[in-house]
Amino acid sequence: DKVGVALVGLGGYSKNQLAPALEQTEHCYLAGIVTGSPEKIPEWQKKYNIPDGNVYNYENMDDIANNDDIDVIYIVLPSGMHAEYAIKAANTGKHVWCEKPMAKTVEECQSIIDACNKNNVKLTIGYRMQHEPNTQNFKKWVEERKFGEVKMIEAMAGFYSSRTGHWRLDKEMGGGALYDMGVYSINAARYVLQQEPISVMAYESTTRPEIFTEVDETMNFILEFPDGVMANCATSFGINMNRLIVTAQDGHFRMEPFQSYNGLKGFSSDGSQFSDKIKNQQAKQMDNDALAIKENKEVLVPGEEGLKDIKVVEAIFKSAEEGRRVKI
Ligand code: NAD
Repeated sequence: DKVGVALVGLGGYSKNQLAPALEQTEHCYLAGIVTGSPEKIPEWQKKYNIPDGNVYNYENMDDIANNDDIDVIYIVLPSGMHAEYAIKAANTGKHVWCEKPMAKTVEECQSIIDACNKNNVKLTIGYRMQHEPNTQNFKKWVEERKFGEVKMIEAMAGFYSSRTGHWRLDKEMGGGALYDMGVYSINAARYVLQQEPISVMAYESTTRPEIFTEVDETMNFILEFPDGVMANCATSFGINMNRLIVTAQDGHFRMEPFQSYNGLKGFSSDGSQFSDKIKNQQAKQMDNDALAIKENKEVLVPGEEGLKDIKVVEAIFKSAEEGRRVKI
């Protein structure tokens, strides 16, 4: 009685990460697919043994309501499409898993939460790092004041992309570095501190204005947390960076990279070193989320987590645009 998952959107993340990870899970499996690209169907059906009755397109995905094989609809579409399809998914009465960033606006995030509440289904956001043991240790060390009171955080996530003509460069589709990679910085800072930022100062810049005509290439931002803790953050489609550093009164700990699928590497000022503790982050995430359904427990990363990040994203855009510090 494994939980049956239907993936919506068979792009890079579904194909190369989630579908293979579903073969390594204990508590769920790939039961169905929803795609607007018919040419992809035969390969997926064959590879994952998906019956004809569990293959849907965007027009008929509402019919999943009547499919007992499918318990969860996992939205892995371009970010600007998450809200529309997550709400459609909730209205089938199936549980909803939605990729990060949850949606483009707080309003959209709230409407996904409302739709899931109305239909009495569980909602979780694909923040895989919150399921990752080293990241969980960071949170614990802050909470226990293992190295004393936290003074500062640095959270930077970006990569050099030479892509053109892609939805990640399209504003309407939820493109730009901040939505795509910046949410990792925001989420890491909020997660390890277990606090919400109270203000932000942000600066947007680009070195390739001919490519980044409507979305941000690089965003630097400083989040101010209660008690004066600052998180110095950056995200970019033009600079390779991937690190999380927590500086406390009596020491520090860091991971670099901190949000890659594998190859995590870190150390702390007491001399200990750490690296990947689990084989597959996505498998761990989906198993945790499947167990929450089977045992009717709270999910680890509820919709509110996605919404809170987007609230910060909105403040960052506003700060960058108006050139001033914005209260959150
Ligand atoms: P992708 O471009 O590889 O795939 C997007 C899919 O959506 C494609 O199959 C495409 O055909 C389909 N699609 C349907 N309608 C479309 C439209 N109007 N325009 C463009 N594509 C359309 O993207 P991806 O990397 O798979 O990302 C999908 C989602 O997953 C994004 O929200 C992204 O942020 C998220 N993601 C999360 C992680 C993670 O580690 N949690 C990693 C990668 C991507």
